[in-house]
Amino acid sequence: MRNAVSAVIAALAFGCATERPPQKQPAPGGAEAGATATKPADPEPWRAKVPTPGKPPELVIPDAIPKDERLWVPVDENVSFRPLCLCVSRGYWMNLLKVKKSGVLSRHRHPMPVHGFVLKGEWRYLEHDWVAREGGYVYEAPGETHTLVVDPHVEEMITLFQVNGAMIYVDPDGKTTGYDDVFTRIDKCRAHYATNGLGVDYIDQFIR
Ligand code: FE
Repeated sequence: MRNAVSAVIAALAFGCATERPPQKQPAPGGAEAGATATKPADPEPWRAKVPTPGKPPELVIPDAIPKDERLWVPVDENVSFRPLCLCVSRGYWMNLLKVKKSGVLSRHRHPMPVHGFVLKGEWRYLEHDWVAREGGYVYEAPGETHTLVVDPHVEEMITLFQVNGAMIYVDPDGKTTGYDDVFTRIDKCRAHYATNGLGVDYIDQFIR
């Protein structure tokens, strides 16, 4: 009995049995068939498994909003980003942008589209009359030049951005003052992680 209890506890602790119990097959006709016909079939994986040479491996990040503060890479006082996918093969990057202060954060032009999803707080662009609020999605068109602002009542904002190509930083007259692309983002991550204990190679796992 004691062994049986131990076995049950062990099974629960390790996520139950290592093998799934066999599925009951419907009987050909009769009451048994009617009773089992209501059970939906298990989903089946794709069977073909055609090899795709050069396909980068999947990237799965369980803690996209990390508990470890070291993952946030500072770009300015109280402004940081958390890299998710740095896609050098396609020239874009996915990251979370976090801002913990109000004010004008960056004025920039986009040569390619940007997609954003607001996870926390809110922000807006001086050039538009809409506000990107928690739960909202934003599309930024190629050619857009705008000035990101976080208002004083916002304690913290976090937004998921997919940025294609580059961010070109400009002054109020549109004169270029700097830029970011997936490669400068990698450089910033590498430099930050090299000094905070995560290691110079830590960023490599997010590169595709
Ligand atoms: Fe933008």
